[in-house]
Amino acid sequence: MPAGRGCGQQAPPIAASEAHQAAEAAAAPATGPLDIKLPLLEAPTDPKGAEPFNPDAPDRRVGYALVGLGHLTLNEILPAFGKSKHARPVALVSGDADKMAKVAKQYGIKPSSCYSYQTYDKLKDNPEVEMIYIVLPNSMHHEFTLRGAKAGKHILCEKPMTNSVKECEEMIEACKKAGKKLTIAYRIQCEPLNRAAMKQVRAKTYGATKMLQMMNTQNQAHDQQWRHKKALAGGGSLPDVGLYCLNTTRFLLGEEPTEVSAQIYSTPGDDRFKEIEENVSFTLRFPSGAISQCMTGYGSFNNKSYTVYAETGSIKMDPAFPYHGLHQERIHAPDGQQVKETPNDPQKDQFALEMDHMAECVRQNKTPCTPGEEGLQDQRIMEAIYLSAKENRPVQLPAVAKLDAFRGAAPKDEA
Ligand code: NAD
Repeated sequence: MPAGRGCGQQAPPIAASEAHQAAEAAAAPATGPLDIKLPLLEAPTDPKGAEPFNPDAPDRRVGYALVGLGHLTLNEILPAFGKSKHARPVALVSGDADKMAKVAKQYGIKPSSCYSYQTYDKLKDNPEVEMIYIVLPNSMHHEFTLRGAKAGKHILCEKPMTNSVKECEEMIEACKKAGKKLTIAYRIQCEPLNRAAMKQVRAKTYGATKMLQMMNTQNQAHDQQWRHKKALAGGGSLPDVGLYCLNTTRFLLGEEPTEVSAQIYSTPGDDRFKEIEENVSFTLRFPSGAISQCMTGYGSFNNKSYTVYAETGSIKMDPAFPYHGLHQERIHAPDGQQVKETPNDPQKDQFALEMDHMAECVRQNKTPCTPGEEGLQDQRIMEAIYLSAKENRPVQLPAVAKLDAFRGAAPKDEA
């Protein structure tokens, strides 16, 4: 409101085009900081507090439909809306009506905005839903993306994108045809400490990166979960947790590997690994000469870490991939003495950052940081990893000259 005109005072008449601009401005999301100046509390010599949170008003946020109410949706994604600025949950899709009714009550979602897998297509008639977040077993991502795009909604799909290159291509095509955005949920690419590591690697703060060592292991429960069924999961540790090693290496370097070599081993007689692999060790070679040694497993104690070894220093993230409690250590020797730096973890909710980035891309019509093409490239490389292990030989990949060849707009830096 212009200075000098209070609430209730009549505005002077404005021309038609100005009226149109004013209406557009009113409809635009309030994504910037509030234009309100408060007096300083502390002297400029004291440490500055965090930036104000400044969320959008609820009716200006992008409405999300959550598909699948399992561990990730209930424990991480739905609570993350409380830390989101631009997104809100407005619909649910589940095969379990009782569970869905409880969740809907907790998050204030209308019963009329709750759908089964069969009535999912009716989302097209729900104008509150702009985005569908698919959080189902891997093999179902393909079908629900195709149906979601047909319903005229943008798609945020959990990783891994799906189980084959062909299905990835069909998902990209379906969203393109519908004129809708598709992004794959690689939360690490939004997370501040991992982004800081990426910037140091790209800026060659410690010279050229020579080697990376990546590890993502966990010991799976001995039950009949879908992650142990090849038809639903597509594979074992590789597409589930090994994917973090692959995708994060590509993200840190910005380059694409030109060769992979891999080995796979599963403990004989362990029922968990009848259909899917237990351990995968794979090596990625990059055009710059960098080599990334990656290990992933489903039968050993939890380790989710990496180290980047550059000419004059190293960057270690341990842990690197969990939802919370990440830690970074940089070691170098600027004056011949070894120095260890441990930057603060700003402790941002990775799911809120990811959902907000996608919401901003919708509002500002930008290609998201990790579009379908990013998931497709990982799927191509994973297929090469399986082939290498099967045939016990290195497998060549097509050279990609451009840096960040498959990525869109960078997410906003949230320190
Ligand atoms: P989950 O098993 O806890 O939940 C899966 C949901 O799908 C359940 O509600 C289940 O009822 C439903 N479902 C529908 N049809 C099913 C079927 N035929 N078989 C089994 N379940 C069926 O799994 P989750 O851990 O929530 O994982 C869901 C997706 O999210 C997966 O693609 C996974 O890779 C991904 N994920 C991503 C992250 C991340 O950090 N980005 C973390 C965990 C999981």
